[in-house]
Amino acid sequence: MSSAQLTFLGSSDSQGVPRWWCRCEVCSEARETKINARTRPSVLLELHGAKVLIDASPEFRLQATRENVQNLETVLITHAHNDHILGLGDVLDYLRWESANTQIYVPESVLPQLERRFEYAFTGKYANRFHAMPKTFELHGWKVSAFEIPHGFNGTANGFKLKRHGKTWVYCSDSIGLSDALLEQHFQDLELLILGTSFWDESSTDYAGRSVYDVLEALEVVRKIKPIKTVFTHLGHGVDARDAAKLPKNVSLARDGLKLELW
Ligand SMILES: [Zn+2]
Ligand SMILES: [Zn+2]
Repeated sequence: MSSAQLTFLGSSDSQGVPRWWCRCEVCSEARETKINARTRPSVLLELHGAKVLIDASPEFRLQATRENVQNLETVLITHAHNDHILGLGDVLDYLRWESANTQIYVPESVLPQLERRFEYAFTGKYANRFHAMPKTFELHGWKVSAFEIPHGFNGTANGFKLKRHGKTWVYCSDSIGLSDALLEQHFQDLELLILGTSFWDESSTDYAGRSVYDVLEALEVVRKIKPIKTVFTHLGHGVDARDAAKLPKNVSLARDGLKLELW
């Protein structure tokens, strides 16, 4: 049995699929046959027995119930958008009712935003649970780097690079326009790249108003850095999971509940 595993708790973009108001083909399919039904983006890592959550999406309670998550040790937050943090209330309830020792790491620049939005989380019984994320740290034998990535119109987010036994993977859910310098520094010789793509082709949309790669642009990134395997996530209603066969054979689409074996 592998000693480390990744589970996509949620694989949608910020609004979920279906959007509750939308009657497009993908949203309609997501209501009926449900191939495209997906919840907002969180990932669970099981690193040699320890459970590590990347982002707490608004559906975190339902995702954690579905996957029977117990003993959550660490939470890593990429940035303070609703789709990545609104499940934090459920994490805090868990701390309270299970007397859990879970520690939450947040990019330093994001801490003040969280403090404004979850004021109660920084006082009393919850005090000292939130920490500024170090740029590099060790997690159960994994060397982790947290690095800032451009999130277009929305500013910046964080990506994570994890390395063990000389093999590396990257989680980069919310980015667009990664510079050659960033690609050079953090995206070389990857075993696995998890990259966010909200739409298939957004070329008709004003670039200045965008915040995440589309599939076509992400394929350009893949061609440039040549990861052994790539999984696109953060999939909005502009990506139809039934189109996955159009992708190169080492590129696939995430879905809720998908598990990947790490090393
Ligand atoms: Zn997002
Ligand atoms: Zn739709």
